[in-house]
Amino acid sequence: MDLSFTPEQEAFRRTVRAWIKANVPKKDRDASGIEYGDPQRVAALKGWQRTLYDAGYVAMGWPKEYGGQAADVVQQNIVNEELLLARAPGLIGMMGIQMVGPTLIQFGTEEQRRRHLRKILTAEEIWCQGYSEPGAGSDLAALKTRADLVGDEFVVNGQKVWTSNAQFADWMFCLVRTDPAAPKHRGISYLLIDMQSPGITVRPLIQMTGDPGFNEVFFDNVRVPRQHLVGELNQGWLVANATLAHERNMLGATTRTQQMLNGLLRLARTRQRHGRPAAEDPVLRQRLADLMISVEAMKYHSFRALTDTLKRRPPGIAASVNKLVSTELNHAIAGLAMEIMGSYGHLARKSPHVIDRGVWPVEFMFTLGLIIGGGTSQIQKNIISERGLGMPREPKGKP
Ligand SMILES: Cc1cc2nc3c(=O)[nH]c(=O)nc-3n(C[C@H](O)[C@H](O)[C@H](O)COP(=O)(O)OP(=O)(O)OC[C@H]3O[C@@H](n4cnc5c(N)ncnc54)[C@H](O)[C@@H]3O)c2cc1C
Repeated sequence: MDLSFTPEQEAFRRTVRAWIKANVPKKDRDASGIEYGDPQRVAALKGWQRTLYDAGYVAMGWPKEYGGQAADVVQQNIVNEELLLARAPGLIGMMGIQMVGPTLIQFGTEEQRRRHLRKILTAEEIWCQGYSEPGAGSDLAALKTRADLVGDEFVVNGQKVWTSNAQFADWMFCLVRTDPAAPKHRGISYLLIDMQSPGITVRPLIQMTGDPGFNEVFFDNVRVPRQHLVGELNQGWLVANATLAHERNMLGATTRTQQMLNGLLRLARTRQRHGRPAAEDPVLRQRLADLMISVEAMKYHSFRALTDTLKRRPPGIAASVNKLVSTELNHAIAGLAMEIMGSYGHLARKSPHVIDRGVWPVEFMFTLGLIIGGGTSQIQKNIISERGLGMPREPKGKP
């Protein structure tokens, strides 16, 4: 197997690196593109995504008519790697770019694609995901939010919860129950809902990081035009699962894990333990090596997934494997950083003695959330064992 890049790809890499060097906003290095409610940060991150899009480096694989370049996935991979090396900020519009965008390309009407796709890429419109409800998380198909078709409009009533970014999102892709009499997977539809519609109330929930990252969203007779239905009426489960596979790919991206590992290595080289850099302590060194080996293995697994995409082979359970491994690794990396910092790890972000601007305690708490969000580790293990390894399904009614 040849894992090296072609001369053309290496030349492309040099061009990207030069552009990034000139354009990455230095003060936002390492900033995550998600889970921020602060309007100034939202505006800054929208601006960064726009700059990156104008340079031609966002969703390069999308068809040209929808704002992409029909480029192969290797090019986007090179861009992602270079952004990672430069510790560039994440993209605020990831749920649009990685989740609803590809879903609209696959299932949307031409009108929906033309209306939404370009604004997703330019960050003019930010999206949130309205799936989970108080009684529907792992068992997503138990959702109860109703949408009744009245003339040419759906009338939506109910509640979503844990809705990340709803406080500044312009649109929501949302699962609603359109046929309460049908078996639960067959009465669901997939709607695009304008967050400015009358009858929507967004209430921020404070996460353990202290940030209002996600929200409760209430719908009180919210009117949604019928043309905002994606896919067929009552066939939303199919569309929803396509989005979920894209979400697992997004959460399982190796770039974030590598970025965190690089940060951990910098920390271990600069913090002291027993009078020498923490990276030279034999026990810590062993643990750092273990994490590096896992991240390296994950990178090669992601190359396998890349090859599948290039050869147009179905990804199988690769997305679940990536989601499971990367979210758990991210938490382990942040956990070791906390240990290396000792009592400094408990300092609040604004403390003058804080290390690395206080990102590690936030990462430690936030990465725990990502083990749950997008389908918990237990659910990913169920998917891998049942759909990937062909093991027997969990018997119904088991306590
Ligand atoms: C940071 C974060 C962001 C999120 N953002 C969004 C968002 O933007 N939009 C959205 O719609 N949702 C979002 N969620 C919600 C997320 O999708 C759910 O929390 C998740 O699917 C789990 O559902 P639940 O919380 O109801 O837990 P439950 O389903 O009640 O699970 C409780 C526990 O039981 C285990 N369990 C449940 N069923 C099984 C089973 N069959 N086999 C083995 N174990 C099982 C679970 O693994 C878990 O440990 C977010 C969550 C987090 C933490």
